[in-house]
Amino acid sequence: MSSTITSVSSAQYYLQLEEQYGAHNYHPIPVVLNRGKGVHVWDVDGKQYYDFLSGYSAVNQGHCHPRLLTALTEQAQELTLTSRAFHSNLLGEYAKYICTLFGYDKVLPMNTGVEAVETGIKLCRRWAYRVKGISENNAQIIVCNGNFHGRTSTVISFSSDPSSKNDFGPYMPGFISIPFNDLNALAKALENKNVAGFLVEPIQGEAGVLVPDDGYLAKAKQLCTDANVLFIADEIQTGLARTGKMLACDHEQVHPDILLLGKALSGGLLPVSAVLADDEIMLTIQPGDHGSTYGGNPLACKVAMEALQVLLDEGMAANAAEMGTLLRQELAALHSPFISLIRGKGLLNAIVIKHSDPDAAWNLCLELKENGLLAKPTHGDKIRFAPPLLINATQIKECVAIIAKSLEILKG
Ligand code: PLP
Repeated sequence: MSSTITSVSSAQYYLQLEEQYGAHNYHPIPVVLNRGKGVHVWDVDGKQYYDFLSGYSAVNQGHCHPRLLTALTEQAQELTLTSRAFHSNLLGEYAKYICTLFGYDKVLPMNTGVEAVETGIKLCRRWAYRVKGISENNAQIIVCNGNFHGRTSTVISFSSDPSSKNDFGPYMPGFISIPFNDLNALAKALENKNVAGFLVEPIQGEAGVLVPDDGYLAKAKQLCTDANVLFIADEIQTGLARTGKMLACDHEQVHPDILLLGKALSGGLLPVSAVLADDEIMLTIQPGDHGSTYGGNPLACKVAMEALQVLLDEGMAANAAEMGTLLRQELAALHSPFISLIRGKGLLNAIVIKHSDPDAAWNLCLELKENGLLAKPTHGDKIRFAPPLLINATQIKECVAIIAKSLEILKG
């Protein structure tokens, strides 16, 4: 079908097809992509763009990284899925690799990010009852206002975003919400003896890249340790070199009790997530208690090992730190009256748009698209700038020039 339609009409064709047959649970920028390589993607008409979203930080290694493609295609011809009813030659190898890299006794492999979050919650509750000694069904987990941990009915139960939550009730109990970046609120909440865990994003990505004060994570971890409460870091968006270190927690030498990884663990090739913890926590789950058909499949194991090794071999954390600093400096040098804030760490950044038109951020993203850069607003007035981590200084400068040119549209 697509070969018979002209390039002028093809984008429209795909947009209409999605609109008619796809559920309306997203509101994408109207661009139809069919190719990606490194920091670039191309639309069906052959136009090239910088990708400044990177699949919500899943494509840290860049689109279609050759080493990841080789790992995927070679393994796909050997063995893709055994289920956990049988062993594979790769699960143990992968488990050893990732546990050694991050310093944990064990890993529990899952697929999507939210499955890792769900697993972290279940592990925390098991630990609460079987190790800490909280009475049955009374365990509480502290979470932060403005969090984003995914879309399951349990996880949206503790969301503060009405569109994620409203009319999806009844909600799962057992969560206490406190303000993010507020150590006093955390200390107060930890006085409750039924608290088992503190689930936190080291930087709140979806909320618009909210970076907490220096020292927040280290102090929060200490408060949790003192209260015999598990510190659960959701590094699904912040992890894997995105913020300039392998983990955002590494900026403060914090070793979470439970570490949640996803997204870039496969470099954008397939859903791969992981939960890491030590034996005292992990061994509270025994055969039959938890699992997933695809979790830990050989294809995922192979790709995940390569995805992690690529980040290390190509020095992507250091590049993210350096390029992030450059990006924020160059954006600040624009002195745009329409940018009220520039914030971020490494290559996880956001600008906040100041304008009388509530659609200004959306309109700016449309103009960015026209000028060859793809980004998407979050929560109305914020735009995340999170390119693949192999971007170089020349490309950063070119992107800032595109942003400067596009900001002109807001002068209207
Ligand atoms: N946790 C965080 C911090 C995220 O940013 C996301 C996705 O954006 C998730 C969890 C959920 O991941 P997934 O969409 O793969 O379920």
